[in-house]
Amino acid sequence: MIEFQAVSKRYPDGTVAVDELTLTAEDGRVTVLVGPSGCGKTTSLRMINRMIEATSGTIRLMGEDIREKDPALLRRGIGYVIQHAGLFPHRTVIDNIATVPVLTGATRRAARKRAEDLLTTVGLPAELGRRYPKQLSGGQQQRVGVARALAADPPVLLMDEPFSAVDPIVREDLQDELLRLQSELGKTIVFVTHDIDEAVKLGDKVAVMRVGGRLAQFDTPAALLAA
Ligand code: ADP
Ligand code: ADP
Repeated sequence: MIEFQAVSKRYPDGTVAVDELTLTAEDGRVTVLVGPSGCGKTTSLRMINRMIEATSGTIRLMGEDIREKDPALLRRGIGYVIQHAGLFPHRTVIDNIATVPVLTGATRRAARKRAEDLLTTVGLPAELGRRYPKQLSGGQQQRVGVARALAADPPVLLMDEPFSAVDPIVREDLQDELLRLQSELGKTIVFVTHDIDEAVKLGDKVAVMRVGGRLAQFDTPAALLAA
């Protein structure tokens, strides 16, 4: 469980990106942060893995204040997926995924085996493993990005507009795959999007943010649609 308690972020130039955000992302559920560009979604997400430090308030991960954890150790338990998959261009797909298990102490052979399994998990054929990222479509690259985020088997996945850069049909496939994966793996997911339809489709709970970094609503999709 991830708990935000009155969390704010003010950047050095005075911009208040997030203002007293209080919400809970339940274990094994998808919590979506949705709202217009600049409303503080990315800042909120990056505070969870301490890529950005909160100015005030408290974030707890499984009951523990994240400020008391070593950031590198904290991040081992948190997968991170961004809009443009962020793959290493000079490594093959398999090596992109296998890098993470190698970093966390697996043998090279075990890491490659795990990477091959993860390709299947995200719905890609094994042959793609030998290619380089630029030889894949945008949607395939995003799947590899998800596979890499899953490589260390983190309980938590942070996803920042992971499907926004692919065309609408592929996006729907990726959304469906994510829901399938989620029903199998049961990760605790915090998912950022500016697309309300995507938020309603994917979220167990949806946090609607508005510019200025304030929380406007936090509810189930059904309750939001009924309101
Ligand atoms: P979103 O993800 O919803 O688009 P962001 O969290 O990226 O929003 O940004 C929230 C606000 O903080 C915006 O006004 C943005 O311009 C500002 N911001 C983001 N990063 C910085 C930064 N490093 N320095 C100053 N302002 C920033
Ligand atoms: P994205 O929305 O795809 O994350 P942005 O263009 O919003 O990309 O931000 C790119 C980078 O610039 C981020 O690291 C963000 O923190 C930073 N940034 C965003 N807005 C500002 C700002 N107003 N001042 C300084 N840095 C910013």
